[in-house]
Amino acid sequence: MTEHYLDQSSTTKPSDASVEAAQRVNRELWGNPSSVHAEGRRAALALAEARADVGRTLGMPRFSKDMLVFTSCGTEANNLAMLGCARSKKRRPECPGTVVISAGEHPSVENPAVLLEKEGYAVVRVPTRGGRLDLGALEEALESASAPVIFAAFMLVNNETGAVYDVKAAASLVRAHAPDAVIHCDAVQAYMKMKFTPMSLGVDTMTVSAHKIHSVRGAGALYVSADVLKRRNLTAVMPGGGQENGFRSGTENLSAIAGFAAAAREGAEELDARIAKTAALRAKLDELLAPLCEKGVRIALPEGAYLSNIASVVLPSIRSETMLNYLSGRGISVSAGSACSAASKKKSAALLAFGHDERTADFVIRVSIDHTNTEDDLATFAEALSEGVDGLQRKR
Ligand code: PLP
Repeated sequence: MTEHYLDQSSTTKPSDASVEAAQRVNRELWGNPSSVHAEGRRAALALAEARADVGRTLGMPRFSKDMLVFTSCGTEANNLAMLGCARSKKRRPECPGTVVISAGEHPSVENPAVLLEKEGYAVVRVPTRGGRLDLGALEEALESASAPVIFAAFMLVNNETGAVYDVKAAASLVRAHAPDAVIHCDAVQAYMKMKFTPMSLGVDTMTVSAHKIHSVRGAGALYVSADVLKRRNLTAVMPGGGQENGFRSGTENLSAIAGFAAAAREGAEELDARIAKTAALRAKLDELLAPLCEKGVRIALPEGAYLSNIASVVLPSIRSETMLNYLSGRGISVSAGSACSAASKKKSAALLAFGHDERTADFVIRVSIDHTNTEDDLATFAEALSEGVDGLQRKR
């Protein structure tokens, strides 16, 4: 059966260049980058090149005082930013500080926030109803914070709704009210899909993840500004041998990192073409789904800006897992909410924060596309969805 992969926001197929770069490391550059002998030095050089390549895609100049810390994935980078900031200073146990995040963040930001809440931090979740980061509510929260704001995190693109948040405006509000706070952006879903840098958004730290950009799996990165380093606002959360400038101990996964750099180089070269192709595909998807409106199928469009890559599709009283299985049987892959929460029975926080009620949140599937998809993928999906809605509704 032909496969139609419409789940690009969960993970992507590694490109040939990424696989080859990873394999080359395994064959030829398997030394430990921390070793001083020739094998080690060759590996260290490859690591430095990969760092420069990924750094360039984030707007870092070659000899920057900013830093790029390689991690195992986006989840680890988000944890490092949040917990590493919280632990970087001696805090008063009775009032350690305030952490601000947007409502419906990915669990890799939300769950460390819950952990910090248990440790006594005040956590404020800024509403994102309709896919808009509520800047008025953010300002109020900053003005009324009972303890100093030490950390703020705003994702650039919501992984379930595709909403693009105004991170630049949010960062500038936080900077004005809490100049010593670390301002973080989880850019996992935006990276290689839109144009931005940590500097253009005015944030201090930023997370990206390799496997979302057609790289082999096993690498992520945290950008850290020179200012955060100077202020000593970040510390390691996993002490050990001091790799990655002391911020992430553990022998670097060089094959994954080299694969990441290859995918990042490719992505940066093709970015304009990828954006244009995905926008055209999205227009086609919207056109194909428009007639299904009669059957109660609709795309939950964010009120403000959104990424072409993600369509959050609300079904007419058909549970998302039921439709997922139906489509899967026809060779079509989509997801229910985010892939990361597929194993949990909890309602999607992102969908609830968007404004769906608990019942509707059960009827939402996420269709995520990119430049590797074709119009045929979309036509096959639209046809199967239409038949699925008819068939599954009849069965009930
Ligand atoms: N942040 C966002 C917005 C994501 O969508 C994901 C994964 O889906 C992550 C973080 C976690 O990235 P990783 O899978 O590399 O841990």
